[in-house]
Amino acid sequence: KIAVFWHRRDMRLNDNAGLYHALKSDFPVLPLFIFDKTILDELDDKRDRRVEFIMRAVEEMKEKLEKEDSSLLVKYGVPLKVWKEIVGEYDVAEVYTNHDYEPYAKKRDGKVAEFLEKKDIPFHTYKDQVIFEKEEILTNKGTPYTVFSPYSKSWQEKLHGSKEKNFYVKPYPTEKYFKNLFKTKKLPILTLEEMGFERMPDEEFPPKKVRDEKLEKYDELRDYPAAPGTSRLSIHLRFGTISIRELAQQAMKESKTFLSELIWRDFYQQILWNFPHVGEGKAFRSEYDRIKWRNNEEEFKKWCDGMTGYPIVDAGMRQLNATGYMHNRLRMITASFLVKDLLIDWRWGEAYFDKKLQDYDLAANNGGWQWAAGSGTDAAPYFRIFNPTTQAKKFDPQNKFIKEWIPEINELDYPDPIVDHKEARERCLKAYKDALNG
Ligand code: FAD
Repeated sequence: KIAVFWHRRDMRLNDNAGLYHALKSDFPVLPLFIFDKTILDELDDKRDRRVEFIMRAVEEMKEKLEKEDSSLLVKYGVPLKVWKEIVGEYDVAEVYTNHDYEPYAKKRDGKVAEFLEKKDIPFHTYKDQVIFEKEEILTNKGTPYTVFSPYSKSWQEKLHGSKEKNFYVKPYPTEKYFKNLFKTKKLPILTLEEMGFERMPDEEFPPKKVRDEKLEKYDELRDYPAAPGTSRLSIHLRFGTISIRELAQQAMKESKTFLSELIWRDFYQQILWNFPHVGEGKAFRSEYDRIKWRNNEEEFKKWCDGMTGYPIVDAGMRQLNATGYMHNRLRMITASFLVKDLLIDWRWGEAYFDKKLQDYDLAANNGGWQWAAGSGTDAAPYFRIFNPTTQAKKFDPQNKFIKEWIPEINELDYPDPIVDHKEARERCLKAYKDALNG
């Protein structure tokens, strides 16, 4: 009999909550990863950086496990069907995994748990990808927080209030128990080509670590897209190739501001868990679903292509299209421009980022978009509208970032602005007012 540990958003062997509990069970543990056909089938581009990233993480874990005379079971298919196969192939006593808060994942896990239960196989799940989850941080009234600052305060009180110092950021020492891995010969693995994707061997991903010296300057530099001031760890946090506990410990030592960004990440995950309608295409505040969007397709295309004539917006979109990454300040500016200046439904922008971002994460992306639209939690009042020109002056004062992405900036073929910001601002205010008063 064996226990299976199912990796999803936790593609690492070190400091992994569910894996740790599996290794301490009475059964030898076989780790598993499923390439989920349901998700892969929705990707139009068969050269997808995220799929490449996942494959590299799978290969790395498999190699490490094989050094321990174990292996990684890698499957491709619809998870429920895959599980039916697995229980036919192995004598499975228990299944372990970590929580996943997305609506699709909740449904998937529900179905798998139900199937396993019928076979008398317990399905154990643990908190791993955040420091605090679900209903762990609540207001005095026992309700979830919907505003960041008090949430963050409460989050920090809980973190520092534990009896055992740093209890909530204590790593799980999985390595100590590797002897409990299931001994097996190397297991076969499908190639990406066999799953309909292409390898991207030249693609470089940011390193898995951030240096202390970088975090020391985080506060000062993080808002300037031309300065390499942020950690670039988002893809690793998304797929769990690094541990949030280890990173939070480093943040606690080096930078309060950086820690605060990690708290934002927990914040949006708990929003998605407690208000799942935001993950199903609805505004957090329903009155914002009354806004009459213009939804001009030509303008949307110009925004996507980085051809709006507003250099800071275009530079951000071009960075996204070329690299799969966009600096946070630019995510805020481009999102605000689409929603407020062009009056295009934030869901269009959300979907475009979903397609392009290598660190795409439903909770953070949706949170960011609803923040920009003013329809979400902790939203700035809707009449506060970013001015793309002053934003550029403030955050790219020497035009360094802009020039890097728009080499033709001073030439004739760079377009004129597609809207006049002042007029667009008035138009937006009216549309919002009509929706909110009506
Ligand atoms: P750092 O500044 O080094 O931050 C460290 C980590 O903190 C990030 O890796 C991320 O995990 C977390 N973090 C930082 N800011 C936020 C935030 N506002 N909300 C939640 N987590 C945060 N982040 C994603 O990970 N995936 C997304 O799909 C995503 N979409 C966004 C869409 C919009 C419209 C906006 C405004 C923001 C979005 N963000 C998203 C948040 C943020 O822009 C990125 O996390 C950040 O730019 C990633 O770069 P970094 O790792 O260098 O960040």
